Amino acid sequence: MIEILNPTLLARARDTGALVADILQALKERSRVGTNLLDIDRWAKKMILEAGATSCYVDYAPSFGRGPFGHYICTGVNDAVLHGRPYDYTLTDGDLLTLDLAVSRGGVAADAAISFLVGAARPAESVALIGATERALAAGIAAARPGARVGDVSHAIGTVLREAGYQVNTEYGGHGIGSTMHQDPHVANTGRPGRGYTLRPGLLLALEPWVMADTAQLVTDADGWTLRSATGCRTAHSEHTIAITEDGAEILTLPGHARP
Ligand code: MG
Repeated sequence: MIEILNPTLLARARDTGALVADILQALKERSRVGTNLLDIDRWAKKMILEAGATSCYVDYAPSFGRGPFGHYICTGVNDAVLHGRPYDYTLTDGDLLTLDLAVSRGGVAADAAISFLVGAARPAESVALIGATERALAAGIAAARPGARVGDVSHAIGTVLREAGYQVNTEYGGHGIGSTMHQDPHVANTGRPGRGYTLRPGLLLALEPWVMADTAQLVTDADGWTLRSATGCRTAHSEHTIAITEDGAEILTLPGHARP
């Protein structure tokens, strides 16, 4: 199913997007050396519920996961890149942490992810990984405008990732979003320009480039959810929810995004 939002729903999407961005920013600021992943989950739960929003994750039970996710945020440390299930782990200096959050409010969902380094250490490989996903996300957003095809967005993302020296995994990528978190169209992190669904105003997309330092292969953790790099190498993931507008794309999950 592909949803095209009317102006009323688009206003709600802005509201939900701003909430996701604000929660992620607050959690980033609180994630320090010594912070436990279960603390981050607890803080996320509190902020979501206090905002009158609903977690898209806690009861989420898709075919690729084992039962309901049972947590309010995805926390991926170092080799954990997608669907990282919070567990009893205390962050140390130089850990590469990915926080991925999707919530729904007013009947519209928004989804975003950030990767950053904890503490003071700045390992060069990790800085490069994070930078590549951020640049790929920016390129995908720049390519997302009315009349463009999904393949144009995928191609823009994939080109940046490959030019940065990374392989691209196409099992998991971006997606349409609206009344539910995961909808069509699928937006792979590489693709052929001029192919696929034609973007139009009112469409919401969650674009989410992610990479692993030296592999394209994932392994599933013993928790049945967390996807890690097959080689144990570090990983990064950046995601925004955007709305296609008459002029291009509006990023809904920027911190401090102006509420109408
Ligand atoms: Mg997503």
